[in-house]
Amino acid sequence: GYRKGGYHAVRIGDRFSAGRYVAQRKLGWGNFSTVWLAYDTLSSKYVAIKIQKSAKQYAESALHEIDILSSIAQGDASNSKCVIKLLDHFKHGGPNGQHQCLVTEFLGDSLLKLIRYNRKKGIGLHQVRQLSKSVLAGLDYLHRELGIIHTDLKPENVLLVSTIDPTKDPTRTDVPPLLERSEGNPVPIKVNVAEKWLKLRANRAVAKISLRRVSLGGAMEVDNRSLEGVDLRCKIVDFGNAVRANEELMEEIQTREYRAPEVIIGSGYSFSADMWSFACLVFELATGDTLFVPKPGEGFTEDEDHLAQMMELLGKMPKQIAISGSRSKDYFDRHGDLKRIRRLKFWPMDKLLVEKYSFTETDANNLSNFLCPLLDFEPEKRPTASQCLVHKWITDS
Ligand code: ATP
Ligand code: MG
Ligand code: MG
Repeated sequence: GYRKGGYHAVRIGDRFSAGRYVAQRKLGWGNFSTVWLAYDTLSSKYVAIKIQKSAKQYAESALHEIDILSSIAQGDASNSKCVIKLLDHFKHGGPNGQHQCLVTEFLGDSLLKLIRYNRKKGIGLHQVRQLSKSVLAGLDYLHRELGIIHTDLKPENVLLVSTIDPTKDPTRTDVPPLLERSEGNPVPIKVNVAEKWLKLRANRAVAKISLRRVSLGGAMEVDNRSLEGVDLRCKIVDFGNAVRANEELMEEIQTREYRAPEVIIGSGYSFSADMWSFACLVFELATGDTLFVPKPGEGFTEDEDHLAQMMELLGKMPKQIAISGSRSKDYFDRHGDLKRIRRLKFWPMDKLLVEKYSFTETDANNLSNFLCPLLDFEPEKRPTASQCLVHKWITDS
């Protein structure tokens, strides 16, 4: 928490980097950091500042993220590759110590929020396809051009981008609503021009998606009304755990639900581990449900339940793969069968989509044709991001 080595407490109106950035509101947080919307007085734009906890291990992990994000920014001068752009970084001294701060472009709500607003029904296949294109473009760039594995792809690490181009928006000539602090009490200084601009924005035809609040700087927030006919775009964020494929890899990666089987059994991983997570993400967008939700039970662990759920959806894991990992013996017998979960209830994806999620047969077949190869137990057989980009499911509109 907020103690020595921990988070830096931010109040609205606080200034950073010799006064350049002014804190506006909290955007999110993680175990290592809080993320703030700030106004950049130099560029007159809104930015996001990720303020890391101050202890040494957090500072080191921030420096790693800065290193990865610098490579990403270097290869993407036009900022068109569906990956978040690093703008600046600095150190900020506070009562809890020195905090590494990352300044990035300000983006919109996460896909997690989008999925939550559409709980149990998914967001519509047209939107799933649009968002998939963005995520694939981002992954293709990371994998093929940079040799970077993200290792933590999931809905909260993909943020929406507005399709409004702020540089082409003639109404964007306002003074932003800067907030200033007086006597420790945050007082918003309302700027009339800005309010008018916000109203204008909210009424624009481009904002067909009904916005709870059209946010500043071209980012996008969603509400639960119809997304029909809206082209959505998004960007991949959160490179705190990203690795270069040619460097030494950590053993345990990915958030549980999006974790690939080779990571669980300890047989090594590569770019294709991101493709597994990508398939889980697409399924979740399409149905509103998380694909795998493993739970420990009587006589088996969360890992074993996870492997069992994978096999119930995808069929039995080939023996050669099952027994190939450093942890295989914990889960499988020498025939390649799970030791402690003997009965599997097979429910293949095309049937699941029809029977549980009321997809039409055609939609179900097309989507499972796209996703099942990405969920191949053999990582080398999974299509790459660039192969996915030319798949029928993606190119057919
Ligand atoms: P930690 O490493 O501290 O556990 P994290 O790595 O998960 O945290 P991020 O994923 O980078 O941190 O950011 C946390 C959340 O903050 C995101 O899920 C998102 O909601 C919000 N956020 C991050 N960056 C931005 C941005 N550029 N624009 C808008 N919101 C952002
Ligand atoms: Mg995150
Ligand atoms: Mg992180």
